[in-house]
Amino acid sequence: MAVLDGCGAKSWTPTVEERPCPTCGEILEVFSKDGVVTEEVKCPKCGLVIEAGKAFPQ
Ligand SMILES: [Zn+2]
Repeated sequence: MAVLDGCGAKSWTPTVEERPCPTCGEILEVFSKDGVVTEEVKCPKCGLVIEAGKAFPQ
């Protein structure tokens, strides 16, 4: 996804977090905002997909 507006983007910029995969424990880089995943993440080890728009499973 392209950043179209550099000036106004600051307030919603997602945080990058390292979170363990809930299935296999592999460390994944997850983009999230207010606890909600903003970009789909696929675990390279077990293939689990964390969908965007949902909270990261604990
Ligand atoms: Zn995994």
